[in-house]
Amino acid sequence: MLRALEEAILKQGIGIGNSVVKVDMFLNHRIDTDLLTKMGAEIAEHFAGEKPDIVLTVEASGIALAVACGIALGNIPVVFAKKSKASNQAKGMLSAKCYSFTHQKSNHLLVDPNYLPKNSKVLIVDDFLANGEAIQALMSLIQQANCKCVGAAVAIEKAFQPGGQALREKGMDILSLASVKAIEDGKIVL
Ligand code: 5GP
Repeated sequence: MLRALEEAILKQGIGIGNSVVKVDMFLNHRIDTDLLTKMGAEIAEHFAGEKPDIVLTVEASGIALAVACGIALGNIPVVFAKKSKASNQAKGMLSAKCYSFTHQKSNHLLVDPNYLPKNSKVLIVDDFLANGEAIQALMSLIQQANCKCVGAAVAIEKAFQPGGQALREKGMDILSLASVKAIEDGKIVL
């Protein structure tokens, strides 16, 4: 856990309903670059031993944290999957279906295979982990590219949703820098 992130969530995060965490103040609209740098360093420290070649994320909200990680891991490249409504526009692209929890609709995540060279070691980074759809779709892209996934890191895991547990049960190394237990009357409980 990263104390500075937990403090930011408690001070500046907003609970919406009983399932959505809004962190526009420091991650999803305005970006606190000092906190972002700390998060990147923490993730890099955890995964440095795996020597990842590439950080893979999803546009748009994963990109900032993924870049902070890529820099902290010694300036390795960051690839972001693009979101598309249709998979048939995806000529030559690797594609994986992903149901978006926040937008309640399905997308396809697309990556040009040229940016995931065969046998690369890939670290997945995203802002949130909820039901695990985004991470599973990214894992599928990594597998299709014949690369190896060394694990996944997220800023915020919503522990009341099943994604993290399911992925860990499959043997994935999942690092979350903060874990939200619940949202009670708009209050975020860590
Ligand atoms: P999952 O695919 O694990 O169900 O959800 C993770 C994805 O949905 C992330 O890429 C993230 O952008 C988005 N997401 C899920 N829950 C939240 C949330 O509570 N707040 C925000 N801002 N994004 C979320």
